[in-house]
Amino acid sequence: MTSFEEARRIILDKVAPAGVERVLLLDAVGRIMAADFAAPCDMPRWDNSAMDGYAVRSADCTPGATLRVTDYIPAGVSSDDAVGPGCAARIMTGAPIPPGADAVVPFEETEAGEATVRLLLQVRPKDHIRFRGEDVASGEPVVSRGTLIAPPQVSLLATFAAVLVPVYRQVRVAIISTGDELVELGTAPGKSEIVNSNTLAVAAAVKMCGAIPVILGIARDNRESHLALISEGLKADVLITSAGVSAGDRDLVRETLVELGVREEFWKIGVKPGGPTAFGLKGNIPVFSLPGNPVSTMITFEEFARPALLKMMGHTKVLRRTVRGVLADEVRKKPGKLNFLRVQVTIKDGRYQASTSGDQNTGILKTMLRANALALLPADRTEFRAGEEVDLQILDPTLEMEE
Ligand code: AMP
Ligand code: MG
Repeated sequence: MTSFEEARRIILDKVAPAGVERVLLLDAVGRIMAADFAAPCDMPRWDNSAMDGYAVRSADCTPGATLRVTDYIPAGVSSDDAVGPGCAARIMTGAPIPPGADAVVPFEETEAGEATVRLLLQVRPKDHIRFRGEDVASGEPVVSRGTLIAPPQVSLLATFAAVLVPVYRQVRVAIISTGDELVELGTAPGKSEIVNSNTLAVAAAVKMCGAIPVILGIARDNRESHLALISEGLKADVLITSAGVSAGDRDLVRETLVELGVREEFWKIGVKPGGPTAFGLKGNIPVFSLPGNPVSTMITFEEFARPALLKMMGHTKVLRRTVRGVLADEVRKKPGKLNFLRVQVTIKDGRYQASTSGDQNTGILKTMLRANALALLPADRTEFRAGEEVDLQILDPTLEMEE
């Protein structure tokens, strides 16, 4: 039996970024930059006005002075005419500063006359000018490889006219459920049949990682059906199967994988739920064989597949935020396996408090719906007092904002 930490270490050691592609800027949102981006030019590209007002020669500008308005420069226009002594150019925000001027006086600090303007306040050189390169100098590194692309990165890349952006490729994740008892969503389940919810839960989780689910359907509990679907699944970047991986008579996933050339790295992890999980590789295609119980499927995806998919898509932060928090309830468990306790975390007096989100039996799906975190109860321990501190893996990224 492989320990939780060892299983994760093996998986993350074996996977690597799947490749790089250039995509349209907006398609890069939520993806990871695959190369450093340095500014191709200064930004701003020219000295420009930070205000709507008058471009002036500051030396002419004693308070009370009246200047002659000789030019008009709206945004999008530039003027080559120098501002002469005793003169001013009416200028709008963003427009290039004309030759001769060294300051801008905002409208609010003036009184306009007929083709003249009277200055009310002191004017200093450089007032209200945004200088060329003051934001970013040409050649300056601005978005580094490994950065998550969010609106600020999009704004900056667009400013520098980057139409296509190099990002790590999204991985295609083949999803196969196994079992003779399954029917697809949309078909009424007959007596002793159930809807194939795992495929949809895994596909949802894959999407939330920013990867692409490729749904291959249901492998029936016979060798031919397993061979057909799994060989198809091995054409994707990653294969995830659910069920058929325990020790039952009709659990055929592992032997089929071996037959198709997948090298098994481990089977059985010292965790609960999720013990029978297997992990293997065919070349550089990772294969996760998750247990079929829907709660186990989701938790093992979360703990083992999600970090791998994120790493393959260039993320460097692949694990959930883990914090120390206080258990609100007394909890008992068997020794030997790390337990993932489904909990509801709240923040009280600046501390994380975790109360169990319901019956921890792996058959109870609704306990999963109520959970916003998993408490990690170490393998060797059996009893936890109320008030004791444990590690909490936060599943809900908005948790911090709720208090
Ligand atoms: P197995 O590992 O094949 O024995 O499956 C374990 C349990 O998970 C059984 O109760 C199955 O009915 C259930 N199960 C397996 N596959 C799915 C699925 N795709 N959707 C929902 N439940 C499933
Ligand atoms: Mg089965």
